[in-house]
Amino acid sequence: MRHITTHDVPATGLRGIGDTSWHTRGACHGMDVEDADAVFFPGPRDHEEIAEAKELCGWCPVRRDCLDFALENVLKEGIWGGLTEAERRPLHDGLHRRLDYRRVTAFFQGRDVHLTEAERQVVIDHAYVRGWRPDRLAAALQISHKHARDLLRQAANKVFDRDRTYGVPRPKKKRKKTCKAASTLTPAAPGTQQPAARPAASTPAPAPLGKAA
Ligand code: SF4
Repeated sequence: MRHITTHDVPATGLRGIGDTSWHTRGACHGMDVEDADAVFFPGPRDHEEIAEAKELCGWCPVRRDCLDFALENVLKEGIWGGLTEAERRPLHDGLHRRLDYRRVTAFFQGRDVHLTEAERQVVIDHAYVRGWRPDRLAAALQISHKHARDLLRQAANKVFDRDRTYGVPRPKKKRKKTCKAASTLTPAAPGTQQPAARPAASTPAPAPLGKAA
């Protein structure tokens, strides 16, 4: 079995799941509630308010925490971490694929950080390789003992399959024989030759309708 790298690294500065203390350090902290509503929850065409929000967020010391808070709590409206709703949409949609090893490290350091599906899977694999027992994983992930046991079993199978094939060269695929039909065909009788097929002319794109149309 191969060995995994150590996680003896300094603690990460990631926000814990229930931690909202960052809010008091935000550049928007202390704003009048109505002003904050107008600036951070603008309409799509409120360009002045959006620009003002982005300027504030631009020098905010907790910008990253603010963005993570919005992503992890599925807050899709308003401006968070300097990003508008439209700018954050792809981040929300792809969050389950995020694989941030700082979070995996933080988890093994005992932190209650938010884990995505991909990060959780890495945690389970590492827990198996580290020899964790089901009850330990169950307590850490707050799942049932049976669920933890099944997850460790799946991780064991995955690691076993990986190690079984590690370093084994893959069989080469057989190359298909190329058809030489074109070069071996007998020439057609004179006068019976079909004209060579011409590439289909591409359909011209419809001309854009001008303002006069
Ligand atoms: S990033 Fe923007 S919205 Fe978030 S706390 Fe800072 S100033 Fe407020």
